[in-house]
Amino acid sequence: METTAAQQSANQRATFTAAPRVFGLKTVFVNLYFAANPDGSWVLVDTGVPGSAGKIREAAAEIFGSNSRPRAIILTHGHFDHVGAVKELAEEWDVPVYAHQMEFPYLTGQSNYPPPDPSVGGGAMAYLSFAYPKKPINIKNRLELLPPDGSVPGLGGWRWLHTPGHSPGHISLFREEDRTLIAGDAFVTRNGESAMAVMTQKREVHGPPAYFTPDWGAAHHSVEILDNLRPEIAATGHGLPMHGEELRQQLDRLVQDFWLLAVPKHGRYVHEPAVVDEYGVVSVPPPAGNPVPTVLAVAGAVAVAGLAWAALAKRSKNGSGYSSERSARRRPVQRPYSHNRVLRTRPVTADASYDNPTEHTNNYP
Ligand SMILES: [Zn+2]
Ligand SMILES: [Zn+2]
Repeated sequence: METTAAQQSANQRATFTAAPRVFGLKTVFVNLYFAANPDGSWVLVDTGVPGSAGKIREAAAEIFGSNSRPRAIILTHGHFDHVGAVKELAEEWDVPVYAHQMEFPYLTGQSNYPPPDPSVGGGAMAYLSFAYPKKPINIKNRLELLPPDGSVPGLGGWRWLHTPGHSPGHISLFREEDRTLIAGDAFVTRNGESAMAVMTQKREVHGPPAYFTPDWGAAHHSVEILDNLRPEIAATGHGLPMHGEELRQQLDRLVQDFWLLAVPKHGRYVHEPAVVDEYGVVSVPPPAGNPVPTVLAVAGAVAVAGLAWAALAKRSKNGSGYSSERSARRRPVQRPYSHNRVLRTRPVTADASYDNPTEHTNNYP
């Protein structure tokens, strides 16, 4: 790959250059990335909203030459706007898909994600979240575990970090050499809930998209991990890349004032996280009342109808997502989750010696 030629061609289309040998492509409202090795081989990080395969194929051909295919597909997490084309492209390219073990249940048809939280407020994108698909996809035959040593398959010089909170098996990718970070949705560089911000693409560090984040304590810790990397460049799932001091200062501030800046004032998961294990969702807090009048929610929905077409097309038929026999058996209704409760005869915390309630997310305000 001629780096300059590739960068030029990237500049001429919907793709953008996020960092040396890292190209972004925006599909509707979410970014995916092509990350390349110096020899021109590459991996695809995330796969956009449903229906993006053609656009991704075209961008790949323009950047790397026609008939070029990646060594692997890496998923930061399995939300619908990041796995839209994964099945089609993995089959077509005949490549493995790598994800974190805690994300497997949502990629193998085993579990739905915890229900999104439309009560978090903050704009039309959040009010619409009830319409986003929650059904897990199934890519079992392509799925591989990320290597435990932190290396990224098919991509030299990078490592992956577990950054849960927004989703249980969420990961971020980091290249030490120039401190480039692909952060997925661990934090984003625009306000995920505001339709205006989606359209204007103002660059600003924000916490993870609130309507889909079921564990704020973990999300906070993950942002702290990423801030401690002192990244020079951050390319995120939503918004344009950010750089240097501006990035680091805003990240510092996000870590410091996370409960003020990122965590919604009210919402289903603000005081209690969804409880998950390697098989998927175990229990969720009861729904919070929606403080938004219906008429406003409808107006918001109309305002972003264009952006949401893909989501609506894939709308889940199962409204609550939790009507299965399994949830009836497992989900404690109207019973607040407690850190120390033993679930299925073993503690939620894997290591009992680390069972310190004062360090647990439930004890945040
Ligand atoms: Zn997400
Ligand atoms: Zn996303």
